[in-house]
Amino acid sequence: MNDCFKCDLSIKRNNIVYGKGNKDSNIFIIGEAPGYYEDKHGAPFIGKSGNLLRRYLGYVDIDETNAYFTNVVKCRPPNNRIPSTVEVSTCVKYFLSKEIEVIKPKIIVTVGATSTNLIFGSIEPITKRINKVFTLGNKQVLPIYHPSYILQNGLEYKYMEHIVLLSKNIDKLMFK
Ligand code: URA
Repeated sequence: MNDCFKCDLSIKRNNIVYGKGNKDSNIFIIGEAPGYYEDKHGAPFIGKSGNLLRRYLGYVDIDETNAYFTNVVKCRPPNNRIPSTVEVSTCVKYFLSKEIEVIKPKIIVTVGATSTNLIFGSIEPITKRINKVFTLGNKQVLPIYHPSYILQNGLEYKYMEHIVLLSKNIDKLMFK
């Protein structure tokens, strides 16, 4: 369904990229925005960086069967630029806030700075929040590095450790 024209991201997008995965899950994963392949095929986390994240999450048994994957904005920003404040607030109002309301996850994994700052409602360097577990209202929020930061900086060798820690923190929350 390509019928949202509420912000300028609608001008150049090919597909609206809705969230995908297990809607009954307690694990809700929020990236920043669709990239080239996500826009082309209409599915989240299927491009180079999305695949890296999925592969590493797969090693710790987190996938679309037991988690829900979505983005802050549902349309690709031209040249993969960071979505503007207006684009984020418009899209969140119509999509992300409704997804959270319907799915009611216990655990939110924020992937990268855009989704982390959005969920916290304040801007901080992501390094201050990474690898920690936060309680916000009735939800636990676990920020992780964005896979494109990992790829750009050749840090794949460190990402596994990061994702294993995420998985251990999730397990503790699920079984407590
Ligand atoms: N793919 C997505 O859909 N979102 C991201 O944030 C990164 C890759």
